[in-house]
Amino acid sequence: MGSQPQFEHPNKAFGWAARDQSGLLSPFNFSRRETNEKDVSLKILFCGICHTDLHMIKNEWGISTYPLVPGHENVGIVTKVGSKVEKFKVGDKVGVGFMIDSCRSCQNCAENLESYCPRFTATCGAKYRDGTTTYGGLL
Ligand SMILES: [Zn+2]
Ligand SMILES: [Zn+2]
Repeated sequence: MGSQPQFEHPNKAFGWAARDQSGLLSPFNFSRRETNEKDVSLKILFCGICHTDLHMIKNEWGISTYPLVPGHENVGIVTKVGSKVEKFKVGDKVGVGFMIDSCRSCQNCAENLESYCPRFTATCGAKYRDGTTTYGGLL
């Protein structure tokens, strides 16, 4: 077990989490990392749930870790941008899909094909570079 999710990062967050394979979700307080120079923070307004989420909630692929906040089909409004962000500004409508990061050093990443990066970071139920868990957008 890592540190407590609600205190790992400075930004308080709330979502609905699966705690086990039952399929039930319950309220979950956690935290998001600070907005770094190349980060965009957003207020999530809507989040879809697809069958991938259902598989993950019930650990049907054997890779889930709990608590798990599903939701990798997010739409929201930008609330903060890092100092080196150029393509987004506060107030923009944005979407977040299945992945939130890639290795940025493989051939695929070098060719702007991050979707094919073998070491991408999934939006939920994965590990950030700092070792903390990623949580999806179901709120
Ligand atoms: Zn999906
Ligand atoms: Zn890569």
